[in-house]
Amino acid sequence: MGAMPSGREGGYCTPPSLVGYSIAAKRPSEKHEPPSLQAVRLETTRACSLRCFHCRNRFGDYNHVETPFERLVDVLSAAAGLGARSVILGGEGEPTLHSRFGDIIDAVHSLGMVPVVVSNCLNMRPKLARFLFQRQASIVCKIGSLRPDVQDRMSGVVGSHAKMRAGMDHLLGAGFGHSNDALHLRLGASFPLCRMNLEEAGVIWRFLRSNGVFPEVRLLTAPVLADPALLGQLLSAAEIRDCLSMLLDQDRREYGYSWSPHALPVNPARPGQACVPHMTVQGYVRPCALLELENHAFLGEKSDQAFNVHSRSPWEILTDVMTGHPRPWS
Ligand code: SF4
Repeated sequence: MGAMPSGREGGYCTPPSLVGYSIAAKRPSEKHEPPSLQAVRLETTRACSLRCFHCRNRFGDYNHVETPFERLVDVLSAAAGLGARSVILGGEGEPTLHSRFGDIIDAVHSLGMVPVVVSNCLNMRPKLARFLFQRQASIVCKIGSLRPDVQDRMSGVVGSHAKMRAGMDHLLGAGFGHSNDALHLRLGASFPLCRMNLEEAGVIWRFLRSNGVFPEVRLLTAPVLADPALLGQLLSAAEIRDCLSMLLDQDRREYGYSWSPHALPVNPARPGQACVPHMTVQGYVRPCALLELENHAFLGEKSDQAFNVHSRSPWEILTDVMTGHPRPWS
C-alpha cells in the first residue's frame, strides 16, 4: 500500500500527475479567444519495431518516413513562442528511432519545454535513460500485460515483453519512477484495455502505482474496429465501466486517490484533460490526433496545404482559428 498524501478533500486526494503530460483543460476567455497553447504533440517518425495489434501502424507502414529535423525545429520554436510548456513525442511510430532523436530532445529542452517521450522502450538502454533524465524529460512507456505470452501477443513480436521490461527497468534505474516529488511523476505507462488483459488490469495498475509510475488506460479505437479478426478484443460498455470502477475502488482503498471514471477515452485518472495540437509525420497539424483537418470535406481542396508545416508557417497554423479554437475545456 502506498503512503497516504496529505491535503485531501472528502477523505480522498487527487492522484499524482505526469509532468508535461497531465495538462488541465482551460476555459477560453470571455473575449472568445482560443485557450492558450499548453503543449504540442509531434509524430516524428513512422518507424517502429513492434506490431501492436491495436496500432494503425501495424497495418503496413513500416518504412522509415520521418519529419526532417530542421522542420521540427521550426515547429518547436513556434510552440515555445506561443507559450507551450511541453512537447509530446509520440503517435504511430517509435520516437527514439528518429535519426536525430537526441537533437530533438536537446532542442525541446533548450527552448525551456519538457520533452515527453511516448516509447515502447525497446531502445531504452541505460545511457539513453540517463540522457533523458538529465534533460528532465517525462516518459510514457507502453505496457499490455505483465505476462510474457500475453505481452508478446499484444505487441506482435516474440520476446518483446523481456525487452520492454528491461527498458522500463533502465528508466527506473536512471531515476525515473519514485522521485522526491510524489505528486509530479516523470514516468508513466499506457495500457490498452482489451479482452486479453481485462482480468489483469488491477494487477497492472497496482504494479505501476507501487513503482511510482503514472498509469494510463487507453480504449481500443478505429484500427481494431477496421480489422474484423480483432473485434473480439473490444470490451462492452458495461465491462469498461466495471473495470474503471474496480480501478477507482482499488485506488481509493490502497492510496486514498479519487478520480472521475467518466473521463475516457484518454485517461480516467486525468479529469479535465486538454487536447493538444497534433502534427503527423507528414507535417499535418490537427487540433487533436483524430481530427483530420487535411481531409475535412468542408475545408476545400486546399486544406491539405493550409494545415501542413511544409507549405505554411507553423506559427500561422498553430494560431489558426481551426487549430486554436477547437481545444476543449473542462
Ligand atoms: S509500439 Fe506504438 S507505434 Fe509501435 S506498433 Fe506499438 S502502438 Fe504502434
